[in-house]
Order: sequence, then structure tokens, then C-alpha cells
Amino acid sequence: MSEKEKKDSRRTFLKAAGAIGAGSIIATLAPFVNASDKSGSKIIFPETVPTRPFGKTGVNVSILSLGGVLGMSDLLVFRQAMKMGVTYWDTADSYGGGKNEKAIGKYFAKFPNDRKQVFLVTKAATSDPKKLTEKLNTSLHRMNTSHIDMYFIHYVKDVKDELTSEVKDWAEKAKADGKIRFFGFSAHKNMENSMLAAAKLGWIDGIMMSYNYRLMIKDEMKRAVDACVKVGIGLTAMKTQAAFLAHFYSSIGFETDDALNMTESFLKKGYTEEQAKLKVVWENPNITSICSAMPNLTILQANVAAALNKNKLSSRDKELFERYAQKTAGGYCAGCADICEPEVDFKVPISDVMRCSMYYDSYGDRDKALSLFNALPTDQKRNIRKTDYSKAEKKCPQKIQIGKVLKKIYADLT
Ligand code: SF4
Repeated sequence: MSEKEKKDSRRTFLKAAGAIGAGSIIATLAPFVNASDKSGSKIIFPETVPTRPFGKTGVNVSILSLGGVLGMSDLLVFRQAMKMGVTYWDTADSYGGGKNEKAIGKYFAKFPNDRKQVFLVTKAATSDPKKLTEKLNTSLHRMNTSHIDMYFIHYVKDVKDELTSEVKDWAEKAKADGKIRFFGFSAHKNMENSMLAAAKLGWIDGIMMSYNYRLMIKDEMKRAVDACVKVGIGLTAMKTQAAFLAHFYSSIGFETDDALNMTESFLKKGYTEEQAKLKVVWENPNITSICSAMPNLTILQANVAAALNKNKLSSRDKELFERYAQKTAGGYCAGCADICEPEVDFKVPISDVMRCSMYYDSYGDRDKALSLFNALPTDQKRNIRKTDYSKAEKKCPQKIQIGKVLKKIYADLT
């Protein structure tokens, strides 16, 4: 076999192993799947996902949170999540146009006792108190519940503009009315600034932010996490897989030698790269939970297995992640829009368009990419093609070819 054939064969093996989730972590799930009672109808779960305290709320939540969009036909996923101890459920009024909240409502109608065990989170993308009330009432109705445990404002970009004193009053009233227990927001861009600002506000209970092996090593993110922890804000990590935004960069990607070495090293220890990406986040005790889209039982089981696994990542594992993050930085937008967006002459929401690219190029989810793209202001979309990004590219800490990515996604989605 030639060197090239050997390399190709190694790539093929690693890809297949990663895809099926090979390794002993997966094997630890065998008792979950096989241990049934004599009637064969009841599955016995020897161990459930651990919990951690959610900031200063006094509530312990599962370290794995069921996210993403599930529908009416996915009740089995909800049921198995419950049995495995994945009792922190995350949704938003917009997910699937309400489909996800309705599915949760259907589940609670069928299993009303489970509502008491679930820490239920939903979100609404508005800071208008009147609209918040309407959206909260809709979510309560859809999910067949009297209260939401944690209510988030979705996709906060600027704490000063969006978490106003009117919003604070609204949150306090909703708590007093028993409709929500806790209040916070999610942050996909300028996360660190929003977290630092929230820590100063004094009335934010929880934040869900993009956080992964690429972002967690940055000093500004470390400072932001510390500030939140100090004032008792509970933190949930999302986007922990740190997906590439653009596969059309030919020189970087999943198949570099670094990526192969990293995957091979993890597989030898019994976990896939995807599981290792969860484990490295959980190893920070300041992160309460990881919200993960788990659209089927296979992914649910693989993530639960990672949560139950007690082996620590080695310092070499972490070095592999760091090296890989550095070498592939140009394929990952860190959401630091404050750096690049002021550097262009025409207004372009660069990091929002990057997010569209991530859904389109990395997840292959054209519908989601298109719905996010269509929601952007028309004039700002028009600006994408006529803007010169050279100054922004020079400032970008990830060294992303911003113009190339943005113009490609514009062409793909229009
Ligand atoms: S394009 Fe670069 S500077 Fe702009 S948000 Fe992404 S990583 Fe930050």
C-alpha cells in the first residue's frame, strides 16, 4: 500500500469511527439499553447524569441539557432523556416555529409528573415588556405548564440596550406572579462583554453563551466566566462542538494531520472527538451545564455516556485541542463583533452572517441559515457585496477571510 493509500485508509477509518461513536464510553451505555425487567417493558437505569448547582438559584440541574428542535414524533427522546437524568430542557418560542414547545407540551400532557423534575428553559427574542408578556403566555400555553424555570431573552447583543430597567421590572413581576422562577439571557456574539455587563447588573440569574475548547482558552472569556461566577450567575455552555463556518477553505478542516492525530488519540482512550469536546467543557466546574442539540437517541446516548464517564482528559488531550484550535482558527468565528463590525464602511452584521454560514456550510441546515439570513435588515444584506473587508480582516483575531466567507454565503442564500 502506498503512503497516500495508507493515509486515505486512516482517514476513512477515523471518519467512520467518529460517525458511529466508537469506543468504550459508548460501551458504558450497555446497561442502559439491555437492563430490562422480566416483562421487557421497563428499562432500568443504574446511573443518571450528574447535576451541578445553577449559580445562586439554589437549584441543581443536570450537566447535560436537552436542546435543539424536537417534534411530536420525538417523544421517545424526551422520555429516554428523563430516564437518563437529562432533566434540564432548553427551547425557545421560535424553535421550529413553536414546534419544539408544542412537543414538550404534548410530553407533559402524557407524563404530568415529569414536569416537576424538569428544569424548563425557554426564550423570546425581544426586550419589549408587552411582547415579553405575550410570548411568555404563549410558551406557557404551548408547553402545558404553569411556569418556566428559567426565562431567557434570546440572542442578546448589547446588554445596555436590551436589559433595561423596564425588563428588570418585567422579570420581577413575572417572578412574583409565579410565571417564571429565574431570568437571564443567551449570547451568541460579544459574549464576553455581555457577561461582564450582566455581572454588574445584579439581577441576572443565568446566561447561556457560546463556549467551547476554542473560546474557553481566551483570557477575556476566562475573565467573563469568573465575573459571573463571583456574583452567582449560573452558566450554560452552547455551541460546544465549535463547528467550522466554512468548509470551502481548502487548507483547513477536519482532515488535517492535527485533526487526525487528535481523533486517533481520543479514540484510543475510548471517546470520540465529539465526546471529548463535551468533556473538556465539563472539566471547568464553573460551567453548570452543556446545552446540546440531541435530535435522536444515538446522540443522546453518546452525550449521556460522555457525561457519565469519569476519566479526566489528559494535559496532552488539552494540548491537542489547543493546537488544533490555533491551526484552524480561520474557520471559526468567535463572535467578537465589536472588533470587526466597526471596521467596515457600510453596516454589515458580520458575525450574524458568519452564523448563517455555520448553519449552511457546517451543519448543512439551509432552512435555518435562510431564516436567520432573511431576518437581517434588508439594507445590511445589500451591503454585504459592496463592502471592503480588508481592515476588518486585519483586526480579526481568528484571521478569517471575512469577505470571502460573507460573499459566498450571500451567493448561496440569495
Ligand atoms: S469575523 Fe473575526 S472579528 Fe468578526 S466576529 Fe468573527 S472572529 Fe470576531
